[in-house]
Amino acid sequence: MNNDSGIISFQHCNHKNIYCINIPTNCPICKKCLKYMQNIPVRVPYPFVRASQQSCSIIVKPTQGDFLNNYQLMDDLHIGVTSSRGTVVSYDWNGIIEDTDNWQECLVVFQLNDHFMEKYWDTVLTNIVKNECWNSSRNDVCLPYSVLLCSCCSILFTS
Ligand SMILES: [Zn+2]
Repeated sequence: MNNDSGIISFQHCNHKNIYCINIPTNCPICKKCLKYMQNIPVRVPYPFVRASQQSCSIIVKPTQGDFLNNYQLMDDLHIGVTSSRGTVVSYDWNGIIEDTDNWQECLVVFQLNDHFMEKYWDTVLTNIVKNECWNSSRNDVCLPYSVLLCSCCSILFTS
């Protein structure tokens, strides 16, 4: 399944890059008519991925909705870590969650490139998921979640 909706980029207003799915009649910034636009619009590579296809990665998505239809600058982002099988581990108000269904259109912040470290990555992830500190009734879970991310990042810097 391909989610690529065809993102187009064009320049207007002193070479500002404008991204859209369909070219509007008027520039969204200066409101001038784009009928005689001098720069040719180009289609940009689709930046979003399905988490289940991104092993051993740190990924982000908007907390609500998706990047193309809902996300606004300064909206909250949700961060997840994928196992070698593409299962996403993340944390929210309900505690730690393992799933892949809600991560169909996300951005990869980091992906492990060392296949020899994948087993260690999964072990760190599994141990953290099993740890009772993830109980949603606890108020001090931010620290362990930070430890999870730091553990995964330490694999990045030592590999
Ligand atoms: Zn303009």
